[in-house]
Amino acid sequence: AELQSLPLTDALKGKVILITGAGDGLGKAAALDFSAQGADVILLGRNQAKLEATYDEIEALNQSRPIIFPYDLNTLIPDVAREMAFAIEQEFGRLDGLLLNAAALGSKMSIAQYPEQQWLDVINTNLNSSFYLTKAMLPLLEASSAGRLVFTTSSVGRQGRAYWGAYGVSKFATEGLMQTLAAELGATSAIRTFAINPGATRTAMRASAYPGEDPESVPTAAAHMPLYRFLMSDAASAYNGQSINAHTYLAD
Ligand code: NDP
Repeated sequence: AELQSLPLTDALKGKVILITGAGDGLGKAAALDFSAQGADVILLGRNQAKLEATYDEIEALNQSRPIIFPYDLNTLIPDVAREMAFAIEQEFGRLDGLLLNAAALGSKMSIAQYPEQQWLDVINTNLNSSFYLTKAMLPLLEASSAGRLVFTTSSVGRQGRAYWGAYGVSKFATEGLMQTLAAELGATSAIRTFAINPGATRTAMRASAYPGEDPESVPTAAAHMPLYRFLMSDAASAYNGQSINAHTYLAD
């Protein structure tokens, strides 16, 4: 482990960070952590009740009030992404971080059997919505002195694995999108682009993918937050374009 030996406190003071999939799992943990580090967080997710639960926890812990965008990323269209960007511009004038975390697992099934409609849904949710949001938010990230674009990948997005279907393929494409953006933006702007591979993490998605596994045997989402926080901070300016295994940087 290096990345400047991680833990930072108050690392995100005054930053404005949009998190997708902020109602559960790693996205919720990131929303709580970023807010505890002083950031104004904007929570996007498809389940309003879950987003409100995240909101309530943040309000109780940090006396700050997040903005909520309840939206199903499977049906996100570019116009709506631009409307979200406009709303953020009106409120803050910039965006310091975009954590593209939401994802759908889809079925564990062979390509031979994979349902076509589900393929489209998973690719839309995991990949196309990330392109729409990134494109819409880029001018706001450029307006930040230290814009951060953080994607979420997976081991099945680096080496093909049987029965991971559209999910695995969407993560390969996410790695590609991240690398392309890092090459385009790294040289000409203050934006830094990364992907995090959380590895096995105690969330609903993990339990659904590995129903026989004891959840206690894998790390919590909270244990990954020093890495998430670091990549969003000014300290990450020295890096760009890496796809990082979170298990290398686990907190106790
Ligand atoms: P969770 O299922 O706990 O959280 C995913 C979040 O994304 C949920 O809040 C979910 O909403 C939201 N989401 C899913 N589909 C949509 C949609 N169409 N529109 C809006 N929001 C949506 O999963 P994790 O926290 O485990 O996963 C977070 C990221 O980490 C994902 O990108 C995943 O691929 C990646 N990852 C996770 C690993 C793990 O072991 N947990 C390992 C490797 C990668 P809802 O709550 O309504 O379902």
